[in-house]
This record gives sequence, structure tokens and C-alpha cells, in this order.
Amino acid sequence: MSTENTAPAAPSNFIKAIIEDDLKTDKWGGRVHTRFPPEPNGYLHIGHAKSICLNFGVARDYGGKCNLRFDDTNPLKEDVEYVDSIQEDVRWLGFDWDGRCFYASDYFERIFECAVALIRKGLAYVDSLSAEDIRAYRGTLKEPGRNSPYRDRSIEENLDLFMRMRAGEFPDGAHVLRAKIDMKSPNVVMRDPTLYRIRHAAHHRTGDAWRIYPMYDFTHCLSDSFEGITHSICTLEFENNRELYDWVLDALGMYHPRQYEFARLNMTGVVLSKRKLIKLVEEGVVDGWDDPRMPTICGFRRKGFTPESIRDFCERIGVARSNNLVDYALLEHCLREDLNARAPRVMGVLKPLKLTIVNYPEDQTEEFEFPFHPENEAMGSRKLPFCRDLYIERTDFLENAPKKWFRLAPGMEVRLRYAYYVRCVEVVKDASGEVVEVRCEYDPATKGGWSNDGRKVKGTLHWLSARHAVPAEFRLFEHLFLTGGAAANVDDPEAAAASLNPNSLETLRGFVEPGLADAEPGWRCQFERTGYFVADTKLTRPGAPVFNRTTGLRDSFAKELQKG
Ligand code: ATP
Ligand code: MG
Repeated sequence: MSTENTAPAAPSNFIKAIIEDDLKTDKWGGRVHTRFPPEPNGYLHIGHAKSICLNFGVARDYGGKCNLRFDDTNPLKEDVEYVDSIQEDVRWLGFDWDGRCFYASDYFERIFECAVALIRKGLAYVDSLSAEDIRAYRGTLKEPGRNSPYRDRSIEENLDLFMRMRAGEFPDGAHVLRAKIDMKSPNVVMRDPTLYRIRHAAHHRTGDAWRIYPMYDFTHCLSDSFEGITHSICTLEFENNRELYDWVLDALGMYHPRQYEFARLNMTGVVLSKRKLIKLVEEGVVDGWDDPRMPTICGFRRKGFTPESIRDFCERIGVARSNNLVDYALLEHCLREDLNARAPRVMGVLKPLKLTIVNYPEDQTEEFEFPFHPENEAMGSRKLPFCRDLYIERTDFLENAPKKWFRLAPGMEVRLRYAYYVRCVEVVKDASGEVVEVRCEYDPATKGGWSNDGRKVKGTLHWLSARHAVPAEFRLFEHLFLTGGAAANVDDPEAAAASLNPNSLETLRGFVEPGLADAEPGWRCQFERTGYFVADTKLTRPGAPVFNRTTGLRDSFAKELQKG
């Protein structure tokens, strides 16, 4: 990378370029109409956020529309719980479908009519091969497929069988409806793809009305067409399916949107596949879909991420056709930029160590003024009590400190933020030899945390008055898998279990400043020197706050950017 130009290049988005071109040539009569088409078979993850920001984003940017469409054609895996969560997540990300929330299942009757029309045109047939035989007849990438012996059924016979499939006369798997295209096509997708299958299963919306369900490839293009979509944007795995998308709509002579494929988001450290995420939930590896360690949108929300930071991230990664791996640190970088500007700074001690000021009057209490934000006076300030008995962070003290230790150690002097200089004069240990208390002397002439004799200290510690502090729980997170998303891609349960990070959740019992006793669930802050946190939306209680660490303060990505 060149060091001369450090300005980040504008993220490229080839979809936008296409849309701008289409607007210039008036291809769609000035319309831009996209859709976000999740299957309600799980919660949305950060990869879906990329698709949401793209589809809703271009609609917003070019005065168009974006539909939310549930692609609910598989009754076995789908559920209203997922429908509700998807709507909540899209809204939380800051997008709105303006009343255009559709369901593929609402089109089942129209899709059925399209299938009948294909049969009448001699372009679809009922096949009675077993699933296994259908696979064997399909051939491979190197070998052409073979025609099914049922391929030349008459239109009448096909219509009769298809109606009886609908009526529920046959068991699952007895027949399927297939498009009659070309068993020798170099594109395997085009080798007489299945359009309908028998499923004696209740659907979460249509109940028992249907015994046959349309396949994704058939449903998707038709739904796009019914809704007047212009740009049907999907991920690269569907590239080969575009030919079928086009075939169906051309065969039926219907309104024909154009499909475009982009590279799905892959990110270091996380697994982005609903199928695998479901496993983590079902096997109890995590505490539900919104466990803060999950890369789901609701997991990020519970962890304290902001919708703004996720939208910023999606903007920065751009949209391209080549697969790549995005650094998780970029998402955290976007988050810190957002939180740095607006999170109030407050005091919390995660791993408390008693600090006693031996020369401070036993019954005295003072108050010191703390601003909520160092660069934003408008955020105001509050007073924090100070007394002889304090808590500091255990990690801020070392008995045998190395040379460049600027925090507290025997004989060393540090600043207690906005309060006084203190010097460690004694260390108290328990029977096991663990330090349980440090005893210090303070210098009354350093009130406010400044010395007027020019004496300097290198370290500034955060602290809390032990007499006033409120007990709080802190939950710190690491990635779920030791080896990141890649190794977790194994489907072998043993290997997956072995790659689990035993430290992915650490719970600490510490203290926060008095004003946070009743922190509102979802309230975000920065605990000085320890990171950004959010009051957990499920676990926090009045008087007993529980804080999730959203992210630490150190921005490894900013360093990467500097290095160039
Ligand atoms: P998964 O592979 O996690 O199960 P999916 O593609 O099956 O995801 P859908 O509900 O079908 O999930 O996806 C809805 C939309 O989100 C689709 O248009 C899909 O292409 C897009 N999408 C899914 N995963 C990603 C990703 N990682 N990056 C970008 N877009 C994605
Ligand atoms: Mg899918």
C-alpha cells in the first residue's frame, strides 16, 4: 500500500454504478425497486446487515423503494419468531419498508398458476423418480445428465398428477414437478430443476392449505416479478441460478427484473451461517440468539453496538463481486468512532482492590467534579464522593513492578483521577499471599489531582469510594472460537467443540459509581480506562446493574491504518 495517499479511498459499490447507469438510460422508467428477501429460518447476522444496507440503502439514495419479503417456502424450518425478529432487526438498523412487507407464501396461489401455465406450455412435467435417482440422473459438472423416463408424460397426465399432488393424494417424495429445460446443459442448475415438491407439513402462515411447496428458484423470480422489482440483488452463490431466473420469467412472458450478484460478507473471528448459528443456540453453546458473543444483529445490539456503527461499517466495506475476508477490527473501529463521540465517561472498577488512605480523616467525605466527556462540555458533569476507603483496579497495582510500570507499586506515587496524589506505603496480604489491600498516604496539597510544586506522576488511576460504590456485574467477551470463523466451519461436532474458546465469557463482580445503580437497560457508557459498556437488556435490575463490555478502548485497526 502506498504511504503517500493516506486518505481512505471511497468505498466502491458496483451496484450503485449500475443503478446510476440505468437511471441515465431510463431502463426502468426512472424506478429503483429492490427487496430484502430473508428466509425466516433463523435470526439475521452481520452478513445480512450488508444486504439490508445495500438494498434499503440504494432505494433511499435513489428515491426508490425496498420491500421486505419473507421467502417462506420451507414450512419445516420456518417460524413466526424469526419473522418478528427480522422485522425488529431491520427497523433497529434504521430502515423501513413503508408498509411493503410481503410473504412468498402470500403468492402460493399465483405461483401454482404459473406452474400450471408451464405444464400447459409443455415446459414442466411431473417426475416420479426418487430423490436419489433424480440426483443420479442429473450428472456432474463433467458429465451431462440423462432424461428421466417420466420426462415425456403428456400435458394432460402432468396436469392430472400435479392437481392430485396439490390435493394431497401422494406421500412426500412420491413426485416432484420439474422444469423441462435441458439435461445436458453445462449449467447443472438448468438440468430440469425441481419447481415443486410434496410436503405434508403445516406452514406458519398458510396452515394446512398446501401439500406442495414451490422451490426457492421458482418462487424467487416470480415474487420479484409480481412486486415489480427492478434490481434483484443477491449473493454470488446464486450466479448460476440467474440463468434459471431468466428462463422462468421468459418462459412465462412475465415482467422481468434483472438479477445481480455481489460477494457475501465474510469476517474474521465469526461464523456467518444461520445453519451453524442455529446449532450454537440449540446445543446451548450460547445463551440464545442474542447472546453478545453471537454475530447476529440482536447479539451485537445486546453487546451495545449502535446501528450507526453497523451502517458505517457496511458503507466502508463496499460492494464488490470478489470474495474477501473483512477484519472484525474494522467493525470495532467504526463502533469506537461512534461511541467515542457520544458515550458518557463514568467510573467502574471491574476487579476491585481495596485502597486505604491512612492519613485521610476517618469520618471525612469530599466530592470531586467529573465531566461526562472530556471534549464535550455540553454533556455536563457530576460529583463523585471521596473518602478514606477506596477501590482501585487490581490490575493497576503490582507488588514487584518492572521498570516502566507507571501505575501503583510499593513506594510509587500516582494520581487518583481528579482527586489527589497518593503514594503506596504498605501492602496487606491474606494467608495465601494474595494482596488484599494497599495502604497509601495522600498529599493534601494535590487536591483536584494536580501538584503545584511541579512534581509529576506518570500514572492516573480511576477509583471509587468503597463506602458509596454500587456492586455491579461486568461481562467481558472474546470470540466464541479460538481459531476464528474459519476453523469453526467444520461440521464435525468434536472439532467444533475443541475449537471453542473457554474464555469467551468472563463475568466479574465489581463496582460502579453511585449514579449508575439504576442504569437503564440498553444505556451505553465508557468506563474510564476499561472500555465501552452497555447495561444488559435482560440481566440488569434496579440497584443491581449488569454491564456488557461492547469493546475495549484500544483500536488495533486505527494502528493498521497508520502503518499503511
Ligand atoms: P445463511 O447462509 O447465513 O443461512 P442465507 O443466505 O441462507 O444465509 P437468507 O435469509 O436467504 O439467508 O438471506 C437473505 C438475504 O441476505 C439474501 O439476499 C442473502 O444473499 C443475504 N445474505 C446472507 N448472508 C449474507 C452475507 N454473509 N453477506 C451478504 N449478504 C448475505
Ligand atoms: Mg438462504
